[in-house]
Amino acid sequence: MKIPKEQRRYCKYCRKYTVQKVKKVKNKPRRKQAMSQRRHLRKLAGYGSFPAKKPKGRGKPTTKLDFRYICKECGKQNIIGKGFRIKKVEMV
Ligand SMILES: [Zn+2]
Repeated sequence: MKIPKEQRRYCKYCRKYTVQKVKKVKNKPRRKQAMSQRRHLRKLAGYGSFPAKKPKGRGKPTTKLDFRYICKECGKQNIIGKGFRIKKVEMV
């Protein structure tokens, strides 16, 4: 699917239609200070098996993408709609 890099969309901060840049959101790294992550790392450190088994069954063929729109006038991010599934993205 081809997606234009710049789009004219509504900016809720400027309250009008402006040119906006499209940005793909990537996964953030895990927080090392989180309790569950500390427990996980402690279990990995010693001998023994992996704490949780990998889930069986087929994986999904597509990935879910989340787009953010950055307004060129005020520089703020707009979130419009939910993320959607596509196989291949191409920024035009
Ligand atoms: Zn704006």
